[in-house]
Amino acid sequence: MSVLSQSHFHDEAKAFEYLESVIWADGVTCPHCGVVGGRVYDLSGVRGSKSVKNPEGAIRYGLKKCGECRKQFTVKVGTVFEHARMPLYKMLQAVHLIVSSKKGISAHQLSRVLEVQYKSAWFLAHRIREAMRSGDLAPVGGNGGIVEVDETFIGKLKGVEKKRAFHHKMKVLALVDRETGKARTMVIDDVKAETLMPIVLENVARETRIMTDEHSGYRSIKDHFAGHGTTSHGKGQYVDLADRTIHSNTVEGYFSIFKRGMKGVYQHCGEQHLHRYLAEFEFRYNNRVALGVNDRQRAVEGLKGIVDKRLTYARPDCA
Ligand SMILES: [Zn+2]
Repeated sequence: MSVLSQSHFHDEAKAFEYLESVIWADGVTCPHCGVVGGRVYDLSGVRGSKSVKNPEGAIRYGLKKCGECRKQFTVKVGTVFEHARMPLYKMLQAVHLIVSSKKGISAHQLSRVLEVQYKSAWFLAHRIREAMRSGDLAPVGGNGGIVEVDETFIGKLKGVEKKRAFHHKMKVLALVDRETGKARTMVIDDVKAETLMPIVLENVARETRIMTDEHSGYRSIKDHFAGHGTTSHGKGQYVDLADRTIHSNTVEGYFSIFKRGMKGVYQHCGEQHLHRYLAEFEFRYNNRVALGVNDRQRAVEGLKGIVDKRLTYARPDCA
């Protein structure tokens, strides 16, 4: 039985029940007054006002009324799904497809599978990516652990643009904690020490050994952290033979997965959207099977992120 045959992917009432079980695991929360587990009246299934299109009034799924503040709401209020004009069961399908596909799924594919317009699929995919941003700010590493740090360029340029490629390509920094196997990534303006070092200082615990390549932007790492190991990729050195813990192969591996995905699925991504693609890849990487997370748990984790994250600006100009 395919996962997508589950009822909440096809039945709107079941879709609401499913999302409620994930979002309100600790009790129904009223988005208006904030009461958790208070008196709530279930009005789901009642019909809304009559219209020409819906002479009997549209069924209002998942409708609740707060017994404290008397206001109505559904589980979608305050989430990235709130203003999307699409059945919830289709959006849950989209979340499942995005979190379970190894390399991601393009808006074109999504629009075909969900049978919605390209534009709607594009907006939905970005809403979901936004939900996948971790917002985790605690430093990584610590306890004598090892964090690999590396930067890369994303995007392909042609002809004249190629000469200025260094300045025009999109730049990404990644930190991978070898202990937890998790990554943290961000878009950066350039690869100067003034840009890189504050990010490393902010995101990595001091009692950590850091591994990088020989890029000069990382030179002062040794002054702030428990250790700094470097390999010289320019000289073809990928692991220090005297100390085999010195390498940045894990973070290199991360970038190669990301680049393969960006190439295959998201060909012409604008810089303004790059952080959301990064979030999507980071999410899947940090919730991967090797870390003991299955498809179902990954979808639940992705859905938990939909609360309190709204997409303020988006334009369908890529993938
Ligand atoms: Zn209330």
